[in-house]
Amino acid sequence: MSVKVRFAPSPTGKLHVGNVRTALVNWLFAKGQGGQFVLRIDDTDLARSTPEFEQGIEDDLTWLGLVWDERHNQSKRFDRYEAAADLLKAAGRLYACYDTAEELDRRRKVQLSRGLPPIYDRAGLNLTDAEKAAFEAEGRKPHWRFRLDGRRVAWEDLSRGHAEVDTASMSDPVLIREDGLFLYTLPSVVDDLDMAISHVIRGEDHVTNTGAQIEIFEALIAAGWAGSVPGFAHMPLLVGADGQALSKRLGSLSIAEMREQGYEPIAITSHLGRIGTSDPLEVAPSVEALGTGFAFSKMGRSPARYDTADLDRLNAQALHAMPYDDVRSRLADLECDLGEIFWNAVRSNLQKFSDVVEMAKIVQGPVTPVIEDTAFAAAALDQLPASIGSDVWATWTQAVKEATGAKGKGLFMPLRLILTGQAHGPDMATLVPLIDRDLIVRRLKGETA
Ligand code: GLU
Repeated sequence: MSVKVRFAPSPTGKLHVGNVRTALVNWLFAKGQGGQFVLRIDDTDLARSTPEFEQGIEDDLTWLGLVWDERHNQSKRFDRYEAAADLLKAAGRLYACYDTAEELDRRRKVQLSRGLPPIYDRAGLNLTDAEKAAFEAEGRKPHWRFRLDGRRVAWEDLSRGHAEVDTASMSDPVLIREDGLFLYTLPSVVDDLDMAISHVIRGEDHVTNTGAQIEIFEALIAAGWAGSVPGFAHMPLLVGADGQALSKRLGSLSIAEMREQGYEPIAITSHLGRIGTSDPLEVAPSVEALGTGFAFSKMGRSPARYDTADLDRLNAQALHAMPYDDVRSRLADLECDLGEIFWNAVRSNLQKFSDVVEMAKIVQGPVTPVIEDTAFAAAALDQLPASIGSDVWATWTQAVKEATGAKGKGLFMPLRLILTGQAHGPDMATLVPLIDRDLIVRRLKGETA
């Protein structure tokens, strides 16, 4: 069977780490299996969907390297959903209901007070034509519910193993609202069939939906709709470092913001692709390489722990391994392209790429020197070689050592503080040859240069 999966975000908000993890796992599974990844914009809710959010989704996925093989908008496929609804109505599986929200609420409370489960009582199913006509005459519009079989729906879940949902314990789901809006349940099934989706991969908050949706798949197929029921994988949800569900905090974890904060796409994908799996939490050489190593068998049943500290570590790791050729244009954008020697010397000191701006100041200035001992600085200036060659650091520090008697930390730390203004930083032996002699002289004299 050829693998074809889909990511179906609603363009009603920004992508956050939760839905990007879903997109990523779909993409990794598809790529690992030589399959296809479909981007399906779930924009049936025309009132809440916006072109800006849709563009944002595409920008974020592209930036992360999650290119799609096929792209669809559900808002362009209403004729298919109408056709499916007609078929289900004719088969007696989709029925009109006229209950108002208040009526439903009242009946739910009665059920609960009697100790009964608050399941829809199927009042709509038993309406006569005359009763329906009376509701219509009152100005009521129907919403449409799918009549569940009320049985144990079972499937072999790629992530959870054998899974079962008892649809007798569920209310018949509303597929079409009274204003005519298709909720995602039916369009999703219709599209999965029409697009020959082989596997539906999503969060475990969808397990109950899957029970109902499998019934809808089967009802449509039984009524003659082409296609077959896909396989399913429901991933454990994300929790924060504190072990609490992340769902409520996801709004503040948008990919657009993380991009602005300077996270590398490969750090984000390595993190989201590996938390909750048995793989070590390390940065992958590429998102493609992440796909090659991906398997649902590595995914545990316990929640995946999303910890910003891990992401920060992976981000630094990604920068430390980044070759100069991959960053040249980004360095140039920040006016920091000081060559390969510079990049290789500073990359292991970066937490975020933009930290390179501070590093470049060591070479280009300005640096405000920190001079704790003016006599030492004066002696270091006296010993500075007339020309700055690639081995200047060894020669110069040896000469300063002989002139001042300083050694070890007592020799290197004051020089670092004078030349960089910082107690920590990149390897001085590599960086000092890149600095103009004039700047070195001025810093040794205590000038900002
Ligand atoms: N738009 C739906 C959601 O984001 C799609 C669910 C699905 O993957 O079927 O929840």
